Amino acid sequence: MDKNQLLEKARPYYEENQLLELESAINEATMAHAGQVRKSGEAYISHPLAVAATLIDWGMDIDSVLAGVLHDTVEDTEMSLGTIESLFGKDVAFLVDGVTKVSKARSGMQDLTEYLPQTKDNLSKLLIAVGQDVRVIIIKLADRLHNLSTLQHMPIEKRQKIARESLEVFAPMADRLGMGRVRMQLEELAFSYLQPDEFRRLTNLMKNRLGKSTRKLGVVRQEVERELSRQNIKGEVNGRVKSIYSLHRKLLKVNGNIDDIYDLMALRVVVETKEDCYRALGILHSLYQPMIERIKDYIAVPKPNGYQSLHTTVLTPSKQIVEFQIRTYEMHEYAERGLAASFHYHEQKATKAYTERRGNGGLPAELQWITQMQEIAQRLRSGEEISQDQLNVDLFGNRIFVYSPKGDIYNLPEGALPLDFAYLVHSDIGKRSYGFKVNGNIHAFNKPLQNGDVVEVVTRKMAMPKQAWLDLVKTTHARNKLRAHLRQTGALETITGAANIIRQKTLRSKK
Ligand code: MN
Repeated sequence: MDKNQLLEKARPYYEENQLLELESAINEATMAHAGQVRKSGEAYISHPLAVAATLIDWGMDIDSVLAGVLHDTVEDTEMSLGTIESLFGKDVAFLVDGVTKVSKARSGMQDLTEYLPQTKDNLSKLLIAVGQDVRVIIIKLADRLHNLSTLQHMPIEKRQKIARESLEVFAPMADRLGMGRVRMQLEELAFSYLQPDEFRRLTNLMKNRLGKSTRKLGVVRQEVERELSRQNIKGEVNGRVKSIYSLHRKLLKVNGNIDDIYDLMALRVVVETKEDCYRALGILHSLYQPMIERIKDYIAVPKPNGYQSLHTTVLTPSKQIVEFQIRTYEMHEYAERGLAASFHYHEQKATKAYTERRGNGGLPAELQWITQMQEIAQRLRSGEEISQDQLNVDLFGNRIFVYSPKGDIYNLPEGALPLDFAYLVHSDIGKRSYGFKVNGNIHAFNKPLQNGDVVEVVTRKMAMPKQAWLDLVKTTHARNKLRAHLRQTGALETITGAANIIRQKTLRSKK
């Protein structure tokens, strides 16, 4: 990727003045990196330009693209953050600073990374610490993707380390952000470096299998297409092939027998409206026999990262098992690009709202965890100790959805308890909690909530938070609110309290 190629690539998508800015960023970065080379022998500038190109592919706003071009300047060259701010503005400087902090802190802990959970924990802290603007992570993902694709030039140990970290930290991050395509690219590359022999074996195995089933699937596909158009449903039917890494993971679950895997190849039906999705499902079920236990409605109940589709697996008259995914074009776009779609160059207003409020604006409700991550970041920065277990629950655990009796949807980590829900709804509801009903039944304080639960908090005006509740919350958010209440009511006499008094006195004496 060189300067002209990048400018050509950007031309159709950005305005004239933005392209001028891009050109100037490329010039600045080229000068700054002059003389530096990558391990591959290429001029260093080829790397940030490739990262910027990826960000354009993902449809990111111009500030992210500029930050992509400049992302290694502050760390690796003489260029200062102040210069970037004066040339390209506050937002670009903020993004470059975030990306720099992630890599700096990573190289500072290189010796600690032998032991994997440690890596993950350190990185999670870092990602949080700079996670005030989620675009930092998106830029970091583009950076990681390019580094992975040029990994063959690295010594083998480093290769393994980077690949492992990509699988353990960056791919789950991409998944969290709903960026399905990026997650898959990271996983395929990382896996091919980590277990090259297994990767090759599975690729061949897949090839053989697909050869056989593609023709048979073609028949099913035509049948479905014909029926859809007969019923006036506009759309398309495509094949999607399982990725090698997810095949590997699935094989581990079914003891290595590829015959037990039904979705090596699935058919994807993409239609125009949500109603058409359900109509298409009806058509499939009238053509073929559905396997009841494998029908999933992720449209009515999206996955916690925002993914939406209907899934069904059917048995054809020729005894072929075929998995279908049905979605609208919009859902398809989100499944592939996830959060990156919110920063689309067409959506400049949304991006502006986001940067102004840093997080709470412009984010889809199912991504509330980002707001929670920012909350934790705030507290880490103010010097508070947060345990590793706590971080893992908040950041890397699975997420569940629960509903209020009114049908409002709330996103919590797996294992969350009723009080976590109460405090998420409102801290006043949390502190007045008296009991809980889940799906209409009385529910104990210490019994975890499940995905899809409808949770009702029974409150009493006179109810008061108790010290013992500290064992009955799992999330940082609830723990925080609860602590604050206990402190107010004097139930929590701690050193923190004493420290606060001293601090207030000092403040007063300063005035
Ligand atoms: Mn880089």
